Amino acid sequence: MKKHIYILATGGTIAGKAASEAATTGYEAGAIGIADLLAAVPELRQYADVEGEQIASIDSKDMTSAIWLRLAARCKELLAREDVDGVVITHGTDTMEETAYFLHLTVHSAKPIVLTGAMRPATALSADGPMNLLQAVRVAATDEAVGQGVLIVLDGTIESARDAVKMHTTALDTFQSPEVGALGSVHDGEPVFYRGPLRRHTAQSTFSVEGVIELPRVAILYAHADDDGFLVEAAVQSGCQGIVYAGMGNGSIPARAEAALARAAAEGVAVVRSTRSAAGRVTRAEASYEANGFIASDTLNPAKARVLLQLTLLQTDDTAAIRKMFKIY
Ligand code: ASP
Repeated sequence: MKKHIYILATGGTIAGKAASEAATTGYEAGAIGIADLLAAVPELRQYADVEGEQIASIDSKDMTSAIWLRLAARCKELLAREDVDGVVITHGTDTMEETAYFLHLTVHSAKPIVLTGAMRPATALSADGPMNLLQAVRVAATDEAVGQGVLIVLDGTIESARDAVKMHTTALDTFQSPEVGALGSVHDGEPVFYRGPLRRHTAQSTFSVEGVIELPRVAILYAHADDDGFLVEAAVQSGCQGIVYAGMGNGSIPARAEAALARAAAEGVAVVRSTRSAAGRVTRAEASYEANGFIASDTLNPAKARVLLQLTLLQTDDTAAIRKMFKIY
């Protein structure tokens, strides 16, 4: 029997409309609705019973936590239904990794949730959206995807929401998991898994956004030569409960910025050290970082560390407890 896969559309380049078939930039993202997306890929129905609904029609640069909360609630509702086997979310690639990680931590279901999108608008010659959508539905409909957490499927690779990063501004194979590699791939439409994620997610996650209407304010600050930490002050004054510092290399922080962050931490702001490097783990490193109460992001890039910190801050502001979460998730 064919599986029933529910598609939630949010916009992005996969739904993008450009003025000419040769244009791959300068288009309107999110202009095409779910009905037209599905109509463009009639092959979907060979592999699954599909139906869909529009959750948003945005360029994903404008993604908000309000939409994340709506998506999490809708995934929960749909996946609790016996007649729904999985969810595919069409999404812009710019913030796909953040949305995917948010759902990976907040939707308590073993059923597959797969995000996909496109790097070329739907109106372009050799648009990549239709094939990506077909591959995403095929992954969501495969038994091997059950229990793997939220997945990103684009250009023939299957990546975990925790590890996938948009690596390239325009290339079709933009999503990679630089530290740990892909979970699998899709060849000639056939999904193959080689491994699974070990960090806690979905059904085992202890995070809940039930009844939550707003997430804690967390800023990301980016390290650079001459950083004297003046933006730390601005973040604290704007009411941030947390700061993710995208440090240099292994989360290194220039001395004056470190002093400003230490003052913020002493006032109760949670400070996470991530990195502006494209790959690698951030470890405890300098003794002063630990002494100041900073938390190492492990392999989470700044955007993902922000998501985990926001969810953790819903539960606790205790540094030791937050450190533990960054080891578990
Ligand atoms: N700006 C677009 C978006 O994220 C890019 C894309 O979808 O590839 O919505």
